Amino acid sequence: MYNNITYSIVVPLYNEELVIDESYSRLKNVMDTTCENYEIIFINDGSYDSTREKAESICEKDKNIKLINFSRNFGHQCAITAGMENTKGAAVIVIDADLQDPPEVMLDMIKKWKEGYDVVYGQRSKREGESFFKKFTAKSFYRLLKSMTNVDIPVDTGDFRLIDRKVCNTLNSLPERNRYVRGLVSWVGYKQTSVEFERKERFAGESKYPLKKMMKLALDGITSFSYKPLIMSGYIGGLSLFIGIFSMIADIVKHLMTKTSIINFGFIIALDLSMFGITLTCMSIIGQYIGRIFDESRERPNYIIESIITNENLSKKHECVK
Ligand code: UDP
Ligand code: MG
Repeated sequence: MYNNITYSIVVPLYNEELVIDESYSRLKNVMDTTCENYEIIFINDGSYDSTREKAESICEKDKNIKLINFSRNFGHQCAITAGMENTKGAAVIVIDADLQDPPEVMLDMIKKWKEGYDVVYGQRSKREGESFFKKFTAKSFYRLLKSMTNVDIPVDTGDFRLIDRKVCNTLNSLPERNRYVRGLVSWVGYKQTSVEFERKERFAGESKYPLKKMMKLALDGITSFSYKPLIMSGYIGGLSLFIGIFSMIADIVKHLMTKTSIINFGFIIALDLSMFGITLTCMSIIGQYIGRIFDESRERPNYIIESIITNENLSKKHECVK
């Protein structure tokens, strides 16, 4: 691998055996046109298909590739964090493996970087080949997050972006866990701009972001950048107290006027249930924050690297076998 690297491309991989070869060749073709030194960092996030073997064989034939194998699946955000912490380039580009982010757009990002921008994020003008549910939830989430936080996190942007070395170093120095990387990039500031692109259909395979992972990412985004849910839980509590007192007064007035029984069983049960629901909702909002404080206090690492494989150490391994 070269010492003076201009571009580091970070590619997270989780069970991407159907995609990795095509992804590598598209990335290589695009990066070769820059005629500058580059490295591609594959982060194998605990894949249990043949992604690792395929990535190793790419490493074997290309000295610009580095493969980082995690000891298990730590998640997309940890994978890109590890990638950024293991790069040397003057500019770092994070891109998904499935070719939904077209590698050719990296050239537009590079152009903007050369104009002097420190962060160039890809903004999706259109999303192809994704379900209505995915598009709807993503669109709503980005807008909800924007309305909740003081940090200007641009809507419809994922982690496909170029960051300058100094931005990468700043991000690497942030110790927090449960990272919402795209939010952190907005938070650190510097000179930022966007390039628009059409998000394509996945080249092959299925999304590795099931609803559970999407919910975790959304909660990380909200809890990392907003206290509003905590404040809202106070409002919900106040509202439920008001409804409770109001309905009790209404029952007493009704009793005094009609002389009917004050004990209205159905009403009390309904009121009780809604109070209980509201209390639990508020507790769970508070729990989300406490859980994350607990994560921070444990100071566990964000990920564990099992091995780092490069063309160099692969050839050494082969020499030893001989
Ligand atoms: N990914 C990962 N770890 C995970 C889930 C996903 O490294 O636990 C990678 C995945 O291989 C892909 C990128 O993160 O390169 C984005 O995932 P995916 O395309 O499945 O997400 P979607 O585009 O459906 O939101
Ligand atoms: Mg994808």
